[in-house]
Amino acid sequence: MDRQEAAASIQSPADEPPLPSALTSETPPAPVRANARWDDWRWQIRNRIRSFAQLTEQFPPLRGHRAIEKVVERYPLAITPYYASLIRVPGYQDPIFRMSVPQAQELCDPSFLTPDPLEEEADMPVPGLVHRYRDRALLISTTMCAMYCRHCTRKRVAGTRETSLSVARLREVAQYLAAHPEITDVVVSGGDPLTMSTSLLERILAALRAVPSVQIIRLGTRAPVVLPQRITEELTRMLRKYHPLWINTHFNHPQEVTAESAAACTRLADAGIPLGNQSVLLRGVNDSPLIMEELCRALVRMRVRPYYLFQCDLVRGIEHFRTPLSRGIEIMEYLRGRLSGLAIPQFVVDAPHGGGKIPLLPNYIVSSSPTHTVLRNYEGLLVNYPEPIVPETARRAFPKRAATGVWGLASGRLSAIAPAVTVRQRNGHREYSPGDPRQTEFAGF
Ligand code: SF4
Repeated sequence: MDRQEAAASIQSPADEPPLPSALTSETPPAPVRANARWDDWRWQIRNRIRSFAQLTEQFPPLRGHRAIEKVVERYPLAITPYYASLIRVPGYQDPIFRMSVPQAQELCDPSFLTPDPLEEEADMPVPGLVHRYRDRALLISTTMCAMYCRHCTRKRVAGTRETSLSVARLREVAQYLAAHPEITDVVVSGGDPLTMSTSLLERILAALRAVPSVQIIRLGTRAPVVLPQRITEELTRMLRKYHPLWINTHFNHPQEVTAESAAACTRLADAGIPLGNQSVLLRGVNDSPLIMEELCRALVRMRVRPYYLFQCDLVRGIEHFRTPLSRGIEIMEYLRGRLSGLAIPQFVVDAPHGGGKIPLLPNYIVSSSPTHTVLRNYEGLLVNYPEPIVPETARRAFPKRAATGVWGLASGRLSAIAPAVTVRQRNGHREYSPGDPRQTEFAGF
């Protein structure tokens, strides 16, 4: 599918009339919270909406929408009763509905989208363990989530089989980590690790803690948002044995901030676990400066630090959620000056081809000369920042391996970085390349 075809299918699915943005008034109310087992996380898991038939029982106007049924056949569906109860208006203009109920547009597959744009599979020395950055690794501990977010970056994995790491695979992971002491920080992700039983999760945490070089363990979980009942005293009692332990969760909209989710975050914070939040910028959900401001304020009140605001990855099935990069920059422009730095996340693009996270900001440097740099603040005030009178001639001694990438240029250790093949090389002109010793020997400017 090329760009034009994809754009057309996003506007209007070809094989059926588009759904009204709000469903009809016949739609039944969200599930009542009268069930005696409502606060039992296992009951919530057992009673998820899992099939198209269950979905149409809950939202009858979806009946007959074959494209949505096809989406459910391709990408797993799960919505906890708790999360469904947060829907205020049953239609795609409701953020909770939009993030949890499949849309026909998930079948839109422009050619530049792939199942694994971050190329995680290519960086797995052991199946399930992603080792990309020198000192960090990410462990896909389970393929199960309480809810399958329609915008998931790991659509290729999440919910495909609902299985967890086997004992044998965990042993392989621990062996790899022990053989690579440079890895000091392990993110336990998935899927959602908090869908595992407490004892199974403890087995993984204990195995990681047994590797002397692993200093930090982080958990990535959406449980406080979609299954806050999971954050039990039994769980936090277990987690606190494995400090230093950090948790990153995934709130995207203020409507997800409820008394239950706040209580879940409080229980985790009271167990001494620092909490961060990774939002994804989603069209029609939170692509508004005002909504992001409200969300960030609510997060900080719950002792959750807004950490990242992710641009949507180039993942198959989520094109209708993508926003232009300029929207994220506009949001960052708005937040600065209105919120404390503590409440402002970093806007990042996780670069395709395993390029890692690239932070994007409005441009605050207007101009510079050797003596002054002109900066602007959030109000447009231009100020001149005088550079030090004593010129910085002495270079600090940096370890050789640190002088790589653009930082190598900024520190003066490298004079140029060139792509492996450039037009000038093809034309026969001489030029620096990564293999050219002058690149590392040439003194900086
Ligand atoms: S909880 Fe995370 S891994 Fe699971 S579906 Fe949502 S975004 Fe994907």
